[in-house]
Amino acid sequence: MPIEVMSTGNVGEESAGGPAGERPWAEAGRQPSIAIIGAGMSGIAAVVKLRKAGYTDLTVYEKTDRVGGTWRENTYPGLSCDVPSRWYSFSFALTPEWTHRFSYGPEIQAYMEKVAADFRVTDVVRFNTPVARLVYEGPTWRLTTAAGEVHRYDVVVAATGILHKPAYPDIEGLSSFEGASFHSARWDHSVELAGKRVGVIGTGSTAAQIVGDITEKVGAMHVFQRTPQWMVPMPQRIYSEGWKRVLRLLPFLQRVAYRYYYEFMLRTFAAATVGNQKMQERVSRLCQKNLEENVADPALRAKLTPDYQAACKRLILCSAFYPAITRSNAHLITERIERITPRGVLTTDGTEHELDALVLATGFDPTAFILPTKVTGEQGRDLEEFWDGAPRAHRAVAVPGFPNFWMLEGPTGPVGNLSLIMISEYQVDYVISMLDKMKQDGLAAIAVREDAFTNYNAAMREALPATVWVSGGCTSWYMDKTGLPNLYPWPPRQYLRDLRDPNFSEFRLMRDVDGQRLRSAA
Ligand code: NAP
Repeated sequence: MPIEVMSTGNVGEESAGGPAGERPWAEAGRQPSIAIIGAGMSGIAAVVKLRKAGYTDLTVYEKTDRVGGTWRENTYPGLSCDVPSRWYSFSFALTPEWTHRFSYGPEIQAYMEKVAADFRVTDVVRFNTPVARLVYEGPTWRLTTAAGEVHRYDVVVAATGILHKPAYPDIEGLSSFEGASFHSARWDHSVELAGKRVGVIGTGSTAAQIVGDITEKVGAMHVFQRTPQWMVPMPQRIYSEGWKRVLRLLPFLQRVAYRYYYEFMLRTFAAATVGNQKMQERVSRLCQKNLEENVADPALRAKLTPDYQAACKRLILCSAFYPAITRSNAHLITERIERITPRGVLTTDGTEHELDALVLATGFDPTAFILPTKVTGEQGRDLEEFWDGAPRAHRAVAVPGFPNFWMLEGPTGPVGNLSLIMISEYQVDYVISMLDKMKQDGLAAIAVREDAFTNYNAAMREALPATVWVSGGCTSWYMDKTGLPNLYPWPPRQYLRDLRDPNFSEFRLMRDVDGQRLRSAA
């Protein structure tokens, strides 16, 4: 339960502690009240793991009416996860029931809902309750919902995901189009596409899956490509009933499979991005071979050949795109888009491509994270202003000036061809280590030190040029406004090791004094 609010107004650092008469939770020996923002996969992992660690006073604020996050939000045809399901699973809820090696969106959403129900996560979720504002009033947080309710929490965990705000292209005339038009993450299922002339803007992971799925059903498919993408085949496999039975009987095999895919993906695709030259070359050859084997027409192949290294943009695992784009009803358009007209898309060569429907597979705003929730930390520090368009966090979890505030899948974490469920679980464990430390030492607040954050980020910036995201010669949604990727530049295994073994000297450990003022305990 949240602590009742007794006061309002941000009184800044070294401020009066909590509501009148309330001693900080760790000193008073009570449960911390924890607000978790978001009921996607990170929020679900947070509830299950925090509870297991003995932290039971949890409230999840979910802006919509269902759990699932990105798997609830994205419903486009062909939606699947190109990370193997045996690894893209909660470690505490492995299942023998996956139907495919790379599961489709509805099955993953059903899995999210089942785990949330089985582990009674939904019991603590407040659905349809977006959080508008978070203000630190040392050592607690004042949370205001969009509806204006105010509550106070000892700890806030932002499990708001990375890519949740659709990016709409800044193309002249977009609103003038008279056919159906929607973003890939806002798919309009009322629009019948069979037999129609469909345009797709974009060639990222999303577009590849959409084009791969719907081209054979539509009348004509027009793919507007600004930049070609490297793709490796997705070795899909349907799991037989017999195989499921074996896994039900011998559940330890599920753990073996989880570990197998973890090792495989880390040693191959992840290694290729962070300086393993040999692996990068192998992935490049795989991409080249995939293109040559699947696209016979040299002119089309030339259009589809990127001029940057493989894995520079997020590598696409997809076996359906090349067969789709080589169909007779598919057209790959590489001329630049001049503007959208009421009838279709006009390209710079003067051709008007007439369309019935236009899909914007143009990606997401990668700087959103917890925004647009307004977050105010110590001394009135505003998170959005602090980030200034280039979000940063210490170990993707903590931000200086924001005590008792933790992010899951925050900026500069390892993303890409990885199981983000696994990354989130490690981050939750890290947060639990922080809470355990507070409990053990009777602390009122923990915040990452400004110098630790600065040094960590400076080391990252130094390491980034060696990654293929920078050296590979492309731009991507990974880049922020500083021109560098917002990613962890070292092997993900190192990240996981560091999270396992928190270095508390990187943090300001604060103790309450007389229930009034905070001072450093270290
Ligand atoms: P994306 O990778 O950012 O791709 C957006 C595409 O739209 C790019 O091809 C981009 O071209 C194009 N574009 C953007 N603005 C444009 C404009 N004004 N004119 C023409 N083209 C424009 O977005 P996404 O495909 O939605 O994928 C985002 C991320 O979601 C992926 O990288 C991945 O991390 C995740 N995802 C994962 C899976 C999975 O299976 N695990 C599936 C889908 C998505 P440029 O390349 O030239 O910028």
